[in-house]
Amino acid sequence: MTHPAQPKASHFINGEYVEDTSGTPIPVIYAATGEQIATVHAATPAIVEQALSTAKAAQKAWAKMTGTERGRILRRAADIMRERNHELSVLETYDTGKPLQETLVADATSGADALEYFGGLAASLTGEHIPMGEDWVYTVREALGLCVGIGAWNYPTQIACWKGAPALACGNSMVFKPSETTPLCALKVAEVLHEAGLPAGLYNVVQGMGEVGSALVTDPRVDKVSLTGSVPTGKKVYAAAAEGMKHVTMELGGKSPLIIFDDADIDNAVGGAINGNFYSSGQVCSNGTRVFVQKGIKEKFLARLAERTGNAIIGDPMDEATSFGPMVSENQMNIVLGYIEKGKEEGARLICGGKRADKNGFFIEPTVFADVTDDMTIAREEIFGPVMSVLDFDTEEEVIARANDTEFGLSAGVFTNDFSRAHRVIGQLEAGSCFINSYNDAPVEAPFGGVKASGVGRENSKEAIKHFSQVKSVYVRMGDVEAAF
Ligand code: NDP
Repeated sequence: MTHPAQPKASHFINGEYVEDTSGTPIPVIYAATGEQIATVHAATPAIVEQALSTAKAAQKAWAKMTGTERGRILRRAADIMRERNHELSVLETYDTGKPLQETLVADATSGADALEYFGGLAASLTGEHIPMGEDWVYTVREALGLCVGIGAWNYPTQIACWKGAPALACGNSMVFKPSETTPLCALKVAEVLHEAGLPAGLYNVVQGMGEVGSALVTDPRVDKVSLTGSVPTGKKVYAAAAEGMKHVTMELGGKSPLIIFDDADIDNAVGGAINGNFYSSGQVCSNGTRVFVQKGIKEKFLARLAERTGNAIIGDPMDEATSFGPMVSENQMNIVLGYIEKGKEEGARLICGGKRADKNGFFIEPTVFADVTDDMTIAREEIFGPVMSVLDFDTEEEVIARANDTEFGLSAGVFTNDFSRAHRVIGQLEAGSCFINSYNDAPVEAPFGGVKASGVGRENSKEAIKHFSQVKSVYVRMGDVEAAF
């Protein structure tokens, strides 16, 4: 019998599901059991061509519609996503292995928020009138044209919406390629958008590995590329986009600092560290994986952290009581287990976890290392799994320098009850998305993205509009034209 997660076809192009079984088969593995639940096929060159040409053809008429009309469709899609939240959350859990307890509140709901927010903004996108004496200049905020979205595997629904919603609100079309590890959810986003009345061709989804992504990025018809992925992939995609002088948004990896001063509320700080390391089994780009704890509270913090981490309910992601799921894939599990071994070898003190959980599927216990030093591999490289490194520090000045000593700059957090210190420290941290007495909140209203190697551009908020549109300026002369001859 066909598994309920099996999509109707591999791709969604020009308003309908499309199949081409001559493409390389991509098995979809349920991370909680290791069983294959679906198969899709990578896009062949003919499928890529169909996706790009229909998206290109549909864009101009879409951009000519009023913002109110475009916005209404996006807001209708948000309503449909909310009505179907349970079904979409179950699919997200099959796609990623994340527990239903999370997916019910963080994935289709976050996608719906993006569709509603950018749907609401669409009608307010206007230009400026700039007086020049009797003459004037006016500006027009125009769509970029055809945009490509490429997603990572940790938030397949959310990423598809965070890219699609602002792109469409501005009058662009999009071809979206999900990660080959999680190909299912973006197809549903396309289906919902079309059910809401999106004209055919404006949001196409094609499957495939890096080479399909590369074919999309290098196509001369494409005007913009928005990638969520790792830094090495980001460098390749940015370079390829630069060849064609395309716009880019790069949402890449991190190794973010979470700084806990000795006057912080310990339970809130522990809660922040748990949210910033173990949500989605640690597979979150903005995680605060370098937890700097001021020496005076170190042992108290570690004891409370170990106690609360022991309360994680690891198990069947479809059981709503489960609070901690598996790694997305066997490959990711092995990468993370490798880092845990490195941590042990390099002399970090294991506080809890540190091994595979005794279950089928790709589970790793939530792991905390203490006495981590800045030069250890687990403190320098992005692990993308449930491995928290606790480092200690003495002074504010010292911790700021150490926190910034990394190629990454996605996020940073500070826990303290001294608010002038909180703002002073945040002001000196090299990071794009920061938190004070909290960690990992990502509402659509707030800009999201990194500095340094963690990325270029911002998603969400009004900032995203700037990255999916361009400004035309028009000088209007009222009098005669003066010329030298
Ligand atoms: P990857 O960088 O491996 O892949 C990202 C996407 O790019 C995938 O769809 C991949 O396809 C595709 N891709 C790979 N090579 C190319 C290429 N040459 N041209 C075009 N596309 C290509 O990342 P992961 O999927 O492993 O995701 C984890 C990473 O994503 C982590 O580093 C994490 O920090 C980052 N991330 C960043 C976020 C942010 O907003 N800053 C949010 C979430 C994750 P395929 O995998 O199918 O081969």
